[in-house]
Amino acid sequence: MARRTPCVGGNWKMNTRSADAAALARAVVADASSDVEVVVFPPAVYLQEVHEVVSGSSVALGGQDVSEQADGAWTGQVSAGMLADVGCTHVLVGHSERRHGLGEPDSLLNAKVRTALEAGLSVMLCIGETLAEREGGTTSDVVLKQVREGLAGVPIESLAALTIAYEPVWAIGTGLTASPKDAQEVHALVRETVGSLYDVPSADALRILYGGSVKPSNAAELFSQEDIDGGLIGGASLDAEQFKAIVDAAGRSCV
Ligand code: PEP
Repeated sequence: MARRTPCVGGNWKMNTRSADAAALARAVVADASSDVEVVVFPPAVYLQEVHEVVSGSSVALGGQDVSEQADGAWTGQVSAGMLADVGCTHVLVGHSERRHGLGEPDSLLNAKVRTALEAGLSVMLCIGETLAEREGGTTSDVVLKQVREGLAGVPIESLAALTIAYEPVWAIGTGLTASPKDAQEVHALVRETVGSLYDVPSADALRILYGGSVKPSNAAELFSQEDIDGGLIGGASLDAEQFKAIVDAAGRSCV
């Protein structure tokens, strides 16, 4: 089986002001680990500023969202080319706050995934079920549909630039976390599905991150599961010490 480099993303969401963003980025750079790929996702207006801080370090920069359109008359949107221009190498697509909060459908997210990959960005595609879907026993159907539709038309050569983040909606920002066993079950299923859509070596090489109230106290146990290759971190990524502890846990625990 492929040895996957662990990855931890910090999704700052709509938080920080310019001075805090730069200070947080400086702390993340100071704490960076050579064993873990670390990506920060600051608000779009601070990308350039954070790029100046992370540039030359091992910390990568990502946008929190991207337009499915190329440049042009799309008021308020940010294109993949613009993200790359300000130093982004990564982008989040389909975070639950957009998928569920803003109602972005799989077809739109698929267009965003393809546009971003074509522009040379690495994509972190977020998937996950709601509480009602988990309680209704449809978690597998829901996340596998999100994987299939999110990756429709994505060529196998692009998979190296793709990471999937499994983030149960009910666990995001709530303090609730999927049990390591439940998370592992979904991750294994996602990997198996990617294997059947593409091939087994590509699926083995794919990083699948867990997100949803990851903290220093629960990170190691989650990351020690066979198919969990790190985490996408919201709240705890705003605290440099907690984020460092989570990155360290990924370095020690991801198998
Ligand atoms: C997220 O925003 O992707 C996330 C997982 O948030 P939190 O860690 O706060 O649950």
